[in-house]
Amino acid sequence: MKVFKFGGASINSFERVQNLATILKEYPNEKILIVISAMGKMTNALEKVAEAFYAGRKEDALLLFEKIKQNHLALLKYAVTQQWEAATNQLLNVFTEVEWLLHDKPVKDYNYYYDQIVCAGELLSSAIVSFFFNEEKIINKWIDVRDLLRTDDTFRDAIIDWTVTEKNINEKILPIFNETNLIITQGFIGSTDANESTTLGREGSDYTAAVFANILNAESVTIWKDVAGVMNADPKDFTDAVNIHELSYKEVIEMAYYGAQVIHPKTIKPLQNKNIPLYVKSFLEKRLPVTVITKKNPHHLPSIIVYKRNQVLMTFQSKDFSFVEGEPINTLYEILDAIKIKPNLTQNAAISLYVCLDDVAEKTEQIALKTSEIFEVQLQKNLTLLTIRHYNDESINKLTENKTIVLQQKTMDTIQILMKEINQ
Ligand code: ASP
Ligand code: MG
Repeated sequence: MKVFKFGGASINSFERVQNLATILKEYPNEKILIVISAMGKMTNALEKVAEAFYAGRKEDALLLFEKIKQNHLALLKYAVTQQWEAATNQLLNVFTEVEWLLHDKPVKDYNYYYDQIVCAGELLSSAIVSFFFNEEKIINKWIDVRDLLRTDDTFRDAIIDWTVTEKNINEKILPIFNETNLIITQGFIGSTDANESTTLGREGSDYTAAVFANILNAESVTIWKDVAGVMNADPKDFTDAVNIHELSYKEVIEMAYYGAQVIHPKTIKPLQNKNIPLYVKSFLEKRLPVTVITKKNPHHLPSIIVYKRNQVLMTFQSKDFSFVEGEPINTLYEILDAIKIKPNLTQNAAISLYVCLDDVAEKTEQIALKTSEIFEVQLQKNLTLLTIRHYNDESINKLTENKTIVLQQKTMDTIQILMKEINQ
């Protein structure tokens, strides 16, 4: 059996949902488990609902949620006719659950409410796709993944309980595959043993697909995207970006670490454990090249380019001119951890530590404030962090031309260059 994952962009209009049916019709006799994300930008929209609710702006929250409801009902109208009533009822149940919560006052943590609200996106989109497919005679069974995927209660970044999840999937999914070829479920969400909804972190649907593939010993996972597989650079920045036909699990983890928006980094481990190939394919154009990710290290890779924009370089200089090592570094890392920000690049010097971070104003201020007892803190803003994997002189020269380099680090296969644009 195979696992397919369809992301938000693949279901953000009726035409796109129809396109999924066209894709599925090409696999008539295969057992496939489909993992679906929320439609388009619905997760962002639901986040706004959670924020308004938690800030005590109940009317705003309800209004924002109303728009989300209308969006889904509009799509449902196009997609489903024969089973319209049953489908509408299924959506209404999800709406009611959220609205019921929105009428309350927040008494628990923000992250708890976030998960109870945001999980609606996947429940709604997957239900619409399932009903539509059934009408198209692509017979399938819809499953609430929260009955299978057990997590702890770290809301917004829940950790999977593999033992319970494995038991659930084996007991409940395998018999269904005896009756139908197609199972449709949700990515990104799960539930605790107290039946509270949880989420696995933004873009977590890829990870869900890998969890199912691992437990079900799938022959492959395919992530369907709106681009031609994995590219060596963002085609928005480079018109000459090319598809990479083969990648190793390790390379993909490296790329994700440096900020390439390819695949959720947690996706790789469950696949690597069972040696399951991961395909990244375009859902728009089947002739476009595909990327296959396996344990094999390809011989030659093009230079892979990743930009992180809007960076700030913070310089922490010890006030007493002591070397920056041991204790003060630990303290600094504890502060970063508490503020929930991770350095994108660090460099040590005698009495200073350089730390490059995403420039999130409130966080940078907090860091400066909390470290001011031990360090003299300086900030340099408006920087871009360029990472090139498998660099060569040509790629470095081309990408740093006319740029002022602020800091640079190089290993055998990776160079990172922090730079500012010339006129800044
Ligand atoms: N819908 C979720 C998000 O946008 C999960 C996903 O797309 O993978 O983050
Ligand atoms: Mg997504």
